[in-house]
Amino acid sequence: MAKLGRELSAKGIDVINLSFGEPDFFTPEFVKEAAKTAVDENYSYYTPVSGYPELRKAVAEKLLRENGLNYSFDQIVVSTGAKQSLANAVMCLVDPGDEVIVPTPYWVSYSEMIKLGEGETVFINATVENNFKITGAQLEAVITPKTKLFMFSSPCNPTGSVYSKEELADLVAVFEKHPNIYIISDEIYEHINFVGKHASIAEFDSIKDRVILINGFSKSYAMTGWRVGYMAANKEIANACDKLQGQITSGTSSIAQRAALAAYQGGLETVNEMVGEFKKRRDIVYALLKEIPGVNVNLPDGAFYFFPEIKSYFGKTDGTQTINSAEDLSLYLLNEAHVSTVTGEAFGNNDCIRISYAAAEDKLIDAVTRIKAALAKLS
Ligand code: PMP
Repeated sequence: MAKLGRELSAKGIDVINLSFGEPDFFTPEFVKEAAKTAVDENYSYYTPVSGYPELRKAVAEKLLRENGLNYSFDQIVVSTGAKQSLANAVMCLVDPGDEVIVPTPYWVSYSEMIKLGEGETVFINATVENNFKITGAQLEAVITPKTKLFMFSSPCNPTGSVYSKEELADLVAVFEKHPNIYIISDEIYEHINFVGKHASIAEFDSIKDRVILINGFSKSYAMTGWRVGYMAANKEIANACDKLQGQITSGTSSIAQRAALAAYQGGLETVNEMVGEFKKRRDIVYALLKEIPGVNVNLPDGAFYFFPEIKSYFGKTDGTQTINSAEDLSLYLLNEAHVSTVTGEAFGNNDCIRISYAAAEDKLIDAVTRIKAALAKLS
């Protein structure tokens, strides 16, 4: 979709891109300054595989300060983005034939990482009616003796859904009955949360030792290109991931780590400003999407995505193009409305599309107005 969008743009067509998975904000100034200082201070050598000790300590302090979670610095492994931390964990935990439970819709890379680990993905389908969240009963129903791992994100990409502490407790009650299952909790959108304090499944002491908490700097500090993320896990898993990472990438960029350290030492002011903007945009886009007939949309509590169900358009046509899938609809919106979205199929859901609101307010209003007009031509 991004490639097709670029092709249209190259022809001079004004394409509005709502397919981005990254904040449209700049990295905060104080973080950029720290990186410049690091260059001048010759932070130019290889870094320890799991990251600079001072960054790992800052991560442990952050987890205590913001999340009430106790981790020692040697339980933290800093990586080249949350993505590498996720891949490390999957590679270390999943053996051929192991089952990994993933609620759909899920972030695209989960299923591919599990394939690389030669595991079998077992999906639980969450729908818009449930705000794209699963229950403990749904989880319990798919557990087998082969289940090794459960993997999810909250706030979620692509739905923006946020699990509350109570909803997590419902899942935890099931994990307590199954002590051999590990849990990867992807919390990369932690701060982009419009319902107050983030709840982590690692807050439950009964299962904390089996949780691999994943987080990073990409979203909260608008640092996607800097490539710094981390995991917090029990020492055995952290050591295994350190070994794996040591043979693949080594420690991530020295300059980026110094910048990340400054981010965690610098407080949440810039983060909160960005989140305030996202919330404003979410409310604007929600009001506009709600007005479109046949679009079934929920109000997401976090991240910067809508995941509207658009299946009511399947079988409809504008006379030349017939819509038979979410991919068809996403392509139709690109060609007809010149708005780029992402088909839900990429996230394991065939009835929805993902709309990112990491774009300026006027662009968002223009885009949703165009989407409405294009959909009105389908009958
Ligand atoms: N998890 C989720 C749910 C994401 O959306 C993303 C980025 N799109 C990542 C992990 C990867 O983040 P990072 O840039 O830190 O590798």
